[in-house]
Amino acid sequence: MASVFVANLFMGNVESNTSSSLTMTGDATATCWSCGTMRAVHFCSACGKVQPPVPVDYFTFFGLSRKLNLNTALLEREFYELSRKLHPDLCARADKREQEWSLEQSSLLNDAYRTLKDPIKRTEYLLRLEGVELEEQSKAATEKARAAGEIKKQVVPPDLLEEVFELNMQLEELRAQKKLGEDDPALVEEIGRQKLELEEKYESLSEELKKYWDEWDRLPGNATEEGRRKVRDKMVDLLNRRSYIRNLVRDVSEVLEG
Ligand SMILES: [Zn+2]
Repeated sequence: MASVFVANLFMGNVESNTSSSLTMTGDATATCWSCGTMRAVHFCSACGKVQPPVPVDYFTFFGLSRKLNLNTALLEREFYELSRKLHPDLCARADKREQEWSLEQSSLLNDAYRTLKDPIKRTEYLLRLEGVELEEQSKAATEKARAAGEIKKQVVPPDLLEEVFELNMQLEELRAQKKLGEDDPALVEEIGRQKLELEEKYESLSEELKKYWDEWDRLPGNATEEGRRKVRDKMVDLLNRRSYIRNLVRDVSEVLEG
C-alpha cells in the first residue's frame, strides 16, 4: 500500500500533464535506514518506514514540477493522505528517530501545502525559487523613495498614475473636511466609487495572473534564461501592482471610516 502510494506520488499524480515532473535529489535515492532498500523521499518504498527529511523545495516534496497550474483538489487529497501516513503519533512508530522524522516531515508537509494551495503564495514561492527576491525588490523601491525625499511609499504602477494622483487629492480634501467635522457626501460617494473600481481591478488581477501561469507552464524545458525572465517579470510586475492596490484600498478605507 505504501509503495503504491509513493509510486503514485512520484509519477506526478497531483498534476496530470507532467511526465518529467520528478526532480530527484541525490539524497532521495539513498538507502532506507531501516531495511537498506532504496528509499523514496518520505517513506521507504519497500518497508514503508518514514525517512529522515531531505532538503527539497515544496514542489519536489509533493512530487511536482515547478508549474503554476495545479490541481488543488488533488493536492488536498495528497496532503491528507500524507498527513495521515506521516502522523507522529502513529503507534506503529517504535523507533524514536522515526518519530522525530515524522514530526519534521509533517511540519514540512504543512508548510508545503499551505504555500502551494494558495495561488499567490504559490506564485511568490516559485519566483523565489527562481531567484527573484520579492522583498528585496520592494525594499529597494522604499529606499529609493526615501533617498529622493519622498514619503515611504510604493512605486505607483504606471497604469494607475493618473487615477492615484486624483484619488490622493480627493483623500486629502476629505481628510481636511473631516478635521473640521464636516464631509461632503458627493466627495464621499466619489471616493467610494473609486474604491470599488480598485477592488474590481484587484480581483481582475487573478485572471491576468493565470495567463502568466499558462505562459510559464508552456515554456519548454530548454527555454532560454531570457525567455524565462520575461514571464517572471510579468508576474513580479503583477504582484507589485496587486500589493500596491491592496495598500491603496486600505488607505481609502481608513479615510472613509476615520
Ligand atoms: Zn525500508
